[in-house]
Amino acid sequence: MRVVRMGPLSAEVELGDLTVIALSDGETAMPLTHLRAPDGAALTEAELARADVVGGKLRLPVRAFLVKGPAGCLMIDTGAADAWHPVLGRLGEAMLEAGVAVQDVTAVALTHTHVDHLSGLVDADGGLRFPNAARVFVATEELADFRADARMAPVLARLMPLEQGDGPMRGVVAINAPGHSPGHMAFLVDGRLLIWGDIVHHAAVQFARPEVTWVFDTYQPQARATREALMARAVEQGLVVAGAHLPDPGIGRISALAQGYAFHPLELG
Ligand SMILES: [Zn+2]
Repeated sequence: MRVVRMGPLSAEVELGDLTVIALSDGETAMPLTHLRAPDGAALTEAELARADVVGGKLRLPVRAFLVKGPAGCLMIDTGAADAWHPVLGRLGEAMLEAGVAVQDVTAVALTHTHVDHLSGLVDADGGLRFPNAARVFVATEELADFRADARMAPVLARLMPLEQGDGPMRGVVAINAPGHSPGHMAFLVDGRLLIWGDIVHHAAVQFARPEVTWVFDTYQPQARATREALMARAVEQGLVVAGAHLPDPGIGRISALAQGYAFHPLELG
């Protein structure tokens, strides 16, 4: 696996005949109290010593990932568009930087249906952002949430249920990774790059302490168990991981420490 290009908003990795492009939707920040100890309490000042804090808050980058191959272009997540924090919604800029047009996207798959992952499917004016994306894959468990979101009305005719083992594109396999949300999915690309959605929200704390959860993890114990299992699997199988909220460029390797793990962002070359 080789990083072939890196820009301020995008990074491109080659895996055989597939290319994965990390696309930044921008960066926001969330309250320190969003990180939670196993007993549900907010972390103490000492526990937050290693946190990546900007303006008194936890730095939160937001990303989507594009998988380009001979069979088409699969967009995994779509950013927040205009639906959440105004500093977000930069996916279009990132695509421009990466030389990808919205018309190039032939399918979309969501890791889950939270606002910073699905909103970019639809423009502010209600138009389809990716007009040639014939199918939009959403985990069976989250179809009802998706359908209930009025913004998503223009997408409903393209909706496809997604189950573990499904391949939304050749070379990409869906893997159940529940806890953050009921149907949260990860995607294994070419058997070696795991695009894992919201398994980690704050890398500076959660790799060293995978037991720390995020306040919006729907099922905290399950989210914790899934995070621990996927980190262990990544180390064991030598998988590179990519995440919606991982630090630049959003893709990296994991190593095991005496306690917990360390994240090593990929570098150019
Ligand atoms: Zn998220």
